[in-house]
Amino acid sequence: MPPATPTDFKIPPILVEEMFAHARAASPEECCGLLGGEGNRAVTVYPLRNVAPHAEVAYEAAPEELFEAQRSMRARGETLVGVYHSHPRSNDPAPSRTDVRLAFYPEAFYFIIGFDEGACVLRAFRISEREGRWEPAPFEIKG
Ligand SMILES: [Zn+2]
Repeated sequence: MPPATPTDFKIPPILVEEMFAHARAASPEECCGLLGGEGNRAVTVYPLRNVAPHAEVAYEAAPEELFEAQRSMRARGETLVGVYHSHPRSNDPAPSRTDVRLAFYPEAFYFIIGFDEGACVLRAFRISEREGRWEPAPFEIKG
């Protein structure tokens, strides 16, 4: 095994299922939420209500839920390791221009869930809001 690097992000299958269930329930609107974790490992999914005026094409977490999720993370000794949302009409999801503009957590992995013939697909990205660009980020679905 090569030594762990900062890009070795791990997310347990059960958390992926939670995000997929959230994405399915929210469709045709986008879902959104946070991932709390330790180091490069996601530990908890925090689903948030999408209050964007046009939730089919955008996401904006309900501010009070965002605050509450971050409070819970601190209480559990977790840090914000990921941000997720869905693109219900894409089978190969990638960050939109708005997603890049609103990526306020440069340390976080940005997960986007798409749908391919009913099955969910998961992609991860690093987004630099300051530089206005993004790149795919490697991750492992592993307990
Ligand atoms: Zn998006």
